[in-house]
Amino acid sequence: MPFTALGLVPALAQAAAELGFTAPTPIQQAAIPAVLQGQDVLATAQTGSGKTAAYVLPLLQRLQGAPLHTPRRVRALVLVPTRELAAQVGEVLRSLAQHLTERPKVAVLFGGVSINPQMMALRGGADVVVATPGRLLDLVEHNALRLSAVDMLVLDEADRLLDLGFADELARVLALLPVQRHTLFFSATFPPEVQALAGGLLRTPERIDIPSAPVADAVVLQRVIQVDADRRTQLLRKLIKDNGWERVLVFVATQYAAERLATKLHHGDLYATSFHGGLSQGARKQALDEFKQKRWDVVVTTDLAARGIDIAQLPVVVNFDLPRSAVDYVHRIGRTGRAGESGLAVSFVSADTEAHWNLIEKRQGLSLPREQIAGFEPVEVAVPRNPVGPDNGGIKGKRPSKKDKLRAAAAAAALEAGAQSTPE
Ligand code: AMP
Repeated sequence: MPFTALGLVPALAQAAAELGFTAPTPIQQAAIPAVLQGQDVLATAQTGSGKTAAYVLPLLQRLQGAPLHTPRRVRALVLVPTRELAAQVGEVLRSLAQHLTERPKVAVLFGGVSINPQMMALRGGADVVVATPGRLLDLVEHNALRLSAVDMLVLDEADRLLDLGFADELARVLALLPVQRHTLFFSATFPPEVQALAGGLLRTPERIDIPSAPVADAVVLQRVIQVDADRRTQLLRKLIKDNGWERVLVFVATQYAAERLATKLHHGDLYATSFHGGLSQGARKQALDEFKQKRWDVVVTTDLAARGIDIAQLPVVVNFDLPRSAVDYVHRIGRTGRAGESGLAVSFVSADTEAHWNLIEKRQGLSLPREQIAGFEPVEVAVPRNPVGPDNGGIKGKRPSKKDKLRAAAAAAALEAGAQSTPE
């Protein structure tokens, strides 16, 4: 089905084709006609589904004919949780608008960088603003823009906006918008607080549900490798070398671990760097740009890179440390196998994370074969989760000490808490 069949003008269809979009993805097929007709949309969609173009294309079309370039009057506002997503959506807007005769002015606003260039950029107005809520409010307070003429509002990754603690800022931004407007709401998950937010913002929306993990099925090959925790670095290096993997995104649990592993790999003759929230905005942008330009073989990251960031055709994702929850797992492996490309997601499981992995598998309805790599067969034995309970008779040759028991009980409690908590 061509994009024009969804009601898009040829200039937008042509720009989509030039980005390599040959046919609309399911979310685009569902959302584009609804948005073009002016309907509110409530969509469950993951990054990787093509959700950005699903709202950017019809948004651009609806702006055609509207009076553009009016100083300080924003027509469309896209709220996003992170700087990276803001920058990415800005790029998609600009690329898809390139053949339009009336090209809207796009401003991308986020915190963590000086406010002055953003104030300058807003001089003479912006038709479309893509922003994180905090910086947007700062700029409104500086009188750099007004939101009273916004007639299209997009909330992208609404669940993450709430997870990251933007609820108050969001409420303040929403209070500045006209009540009469067209609202598009995208979220990967729908916990009660997200449902409540959507309920208050949308009017008889078109409900679109794209299955939660399209990437987890056919296009991403998922492998689970058993290895002792202290041999993971060596194994990772071997896998990268033996398989000729290029551009590997490796997830670890903490910023410290990201730095440490990146340094170790770098010393072991791989081009490796880190990407996490502890780096300055400049360093984060540089790492990402250079990874896209294939300067780095490996980027070691925390869950910061699990959502929102799009690096086209990322071939391999490695869970060096397992994610905290099944939802995080889906987000992480969603970095590979994007929009029809095949990808590989490898998870390292060791004795102390086996129980946690079993929970992730169970929640995802997965049952993946466990692999072992010659020379890296694990020798560690799992400490039983409930050593004093009725199921403690399974492991021979290791009687848990008092310390082991305490440790196991604490680990089991943390696992349960981690598996039940909302990600990030
Ligand atoms: P998103 O879910 O918006 O983050 O998009 C994920 C990736 O899919 C991006 O690399 C897009 O450029 C790409 N993409 C979006 N729509 C299509 C399409 N119709 N055909 C092929 N790739 C697409």
